[in-house]
Amino acid sequence: MAQGARLRCIDGACALEYPIETAAVHCRRGHHLDVVYDGSPPKSLKEEFLHRRDHGGSIFNESGVWRFRELLNFCGIDAGDEAACSRSLVSLDGSEGRLSRPYGMSRVAEFCRMDPERLLLQPEGYNPSGSFKDNGMATAVTHARMVGAATIVCASTGNTSASAGMFAANEGMACDVYIPRGKIAQGKLGQAYQFGAQIVEVDGNFDDALRASLEAVGEGRGYTVNSINPFRIEGQKTIPYRALEHLGWEAPDWIVYPGGALGNTSSCGKALSELRSWGWIKKMPRIAVVNAEGASTLADLYNGAGGGGGLRWNAGRPDTGAIERHYAALDASGGVPQTRATAIQIGRPANLLKALRALEASDGCVTTVSDADMLDGMSVVGLNGFDCEMASGATVAGIRRLVDEGTIRRDDTVVGILTGRQKDPSLPVEYHTDASNRFARPPRA
Ligand SMILES: *Cc1c(COP(=O)(O)O)cnc(C)c1O
Repeated sequence: MAQGARLRCIDGACALEYPIETAAVHCRRGHHLDVVYDGSPPKSLKEEFLHRRDHGGSIFNESGVWRFRELLNFCGIDAGDEAACSRSLVSLDGSEGRLSRPYGMSRVAEFCRMDPERLLLQPEGYNPSGSFKDNGMATAVTHARMVGAATIVCASTGNTSASAGMFAANEGMACDVYIPRGKIAQGKLGQAYQFGAQIVEVDGNFDDALRASLEAVGEGRGYTVNSINPFRIEGQKTIPYRALEHLGWEAPDWIVYPGGALGNTSSCGKALSELRSWGWIKKMPRIAVVNAEGASTLADLYNGAGGGGGLRWNAGRPDTGAIERHYAALDASGGVPQTRATAIQIGRPANLLKALRALEASDGCVTTVSDADMLDGMSVVGLNGFDCEMASGATVAGIRRLVDEGTIRRDDTVVGILTGRQKDPSLPVEYHTDASNRFARPPRA
């Protein structure tokens, strides 16, 4: 009972379609693409997904991504056929997405002034390469293999390259990673080297590295696994799936993410819209995106900073001129994105339009937090015995701010996504040795 799948341009007026075996990430007019499926999966699959948690030796049931394979079956395989799964689906032996699900964290709830029963945090850092990127890399590399790619290519603030490197090494593929020189955490850079990836250093920031990597791909030097690749977006849909499954498919009021290139935001919006259209969930959770103050393109555009109304998806007809003007102003001011949370230090979020669509579909909101707030957020997660990096601290700090402002109500149910594990040990050492920090526990002589 395999379904058909195609690629479709996201632009309402264009709506060009391509076969699923297409490796391009844009339509011929330059718009982004979605994976779209025929038909709607039966709700009885909810039971099947639960049964698969008792995996019976199948790595595709053990995987927190492929356990939901009927909902991302762009390979068009018989999902019940283990041999077909083995032939088509790429997995790190079932470990991607396996350990991540929502947890209650009382200290975090206290910090956010929320009912501890109603605030759940999902640590995606508990993925094999240490970030949520593995969810989308499993699907992107599956597609790379489907189209016969020998080399995968990415630009990265660190976690994408760690994940791509790990999958490439497992699959015996080559991996080229474009990184902004000196701007990524050593722990992440070390992973890319360790997995045998070819590092390509670019002078500039992440936005420059992305441009350079896409040029290389345009010249036929590999297959891009950045989140502009629509197949990345498919695998990351399992992040909200796992949250929803934990809640018995009762939608929470909010799902909260840090915003970088906005692949997660886009993916969550697509997942929720599909589930809603199939009748799997009765209401749409609202998506909240948290930008760093120093890398706040989405917040500035969406909240209409600098006058004018906020930028909206506008049912597929967004004011793209406003985006161009914003970027031109950024360039003119020499305004490079500035935050120590390098994973979200991005000025030109590649998935901006899909993110606007997600915000419209979910009646979402966007806020910003300072570096100091993010470090507090990161640290209070630690006090609950969980590990996350500074960019993930944005989720906690953002929830706190939205509760303070009354946007999130104290009795709302909230799932916050902790996107990655701590890979820069100097940050907690620095934080805790400065007694003026809120949660600091300085060393004792
Ligand atoms: C990649 C990354 C982000 C940004 O996610 P987007 O989907 O690009 O918005 C946030 N946090 C961590 C830890 C990341 O690795």
